[in-house]
Amino acid sequence: MATCLVTGGSGFLGSHLCDELLSRGNRVICIDNFDTGSLANIHHLRSQDFLFLHADVTEPFFIDEPVEFVYHFASPASPIDYLRLPLHTLKVGSYGTHHALGLAKLHRARFLTASTSEVYGDPQVHPQPETYWGHVNPIGPRGVYDEAKRYAEALTMAYHRQQGVDTAIVRIFNTYGPRMRPHDGRAIPTFLRQALQDKPITVFGDGSQTRSFTYVDDLIEGIIRLAESAHHDPVNIGNPNEFTLLELAKTVIEVTGSRSEIVFEALPTDDPQVRQPDITLARQLLGWEPVVQLRDGLQRTLDASGVEALTGT
Ligand code: NAD
Repeated sequence: MATCLVTGGSGFLGSHLCDELLSRGNRVICIDNFDTGSLANIHHLRSQDFLFLHADVTEPFFIDEPVEFVYHFASPASPIDYLRLPLHTLKVGSYGTHHALGLAKLHRARFLTASTSEVYGDPQVHPQPETYWGHVNPIGPRGVYDEAKRYAEALTMAYHRQQGVDTAIVRIFNTYGPRMRPHDGRAIPTFLRQALQDKPITVFGDGSQTRSFTYVDDLIEGIIRLAESAHHDPVNIGNPNEFTLLELAKTVIEVTGSRSEIVFEALPTDDPQVRQPDITLARQLLGWEPVVQLRDGLQRTLDASGVEALTGT
């Protein structure tokens, strides 16, 4: 059994990670300031092996027991959140990552940071392998998130190279599942909320832009495998099956049995036109690939969440 620290552990992904680490017999210390996470996501975790600390990782924090793994997940993640919290997003990627890395160094822990496909920015290479350096607009509204994550990656590699910290970087592609907030602005929770209320489904642009959607259980499995490997360079974890937003909207309507119609709205600034991970490295290195496909994952989300949670009613 290891002691694992999860920053951002009361958020969507962090709470699923806490669940899985606990179910594998680990002790889990969860740190969160509830900026975008909630107590509801972790309130079922009553085990003696689970400890919650209400703290902001942009301030220094200390743990007075040995820690073997640090999973650094704290950060606003949805455009709605990081556009509302631009300075905080930059601080959490910089100061927050410094503090989490400093703690990993002190404890000689394995450190894994949650990076993102957004470090690739506008994908001029498709699908995106880890060797693609990206094409990010640093001064556009999304720059606060993309550049914070790029800085966090650079910082992680510097701690590894200069300070000898045992680090890992996971580049997460769009992930969905139970506990997403119905109003967090991301496509799947928005479409599910609209479909379950028979309201118009709002697709940005003409809906021809693509995304690759990963079910949360697949993602968590890949992340734990990466943390338990000895790899230091970034690894893409995502489902390479690519859908247009229009296909996604139609699939959500089918799965929910909705009577919603599809309507089109203006594309947000710097919205990537395509997004698809190249997961060759994850397959070779971790023997990992996703097993839950979109329709099944949507059904599981529906079954596990219930209509009230998905509509916020
Ligand atoms: P989320 O908003 O649900 O979770 C983020 C958590 O971090 C929240 O609980 C929030 O309260 C917490 N947090 C934010 N600032 C904090 C601070 N200063 N101190 C302590 N806690 C703080 O988002 P998520 O979707 O679960 O994303 C988790 C991580 O994964 C993020 O780092 C995100 O960038 C990354 N990621 C997520 C996706 C995705 O598809 N969900 C894709 C790529 C990367």
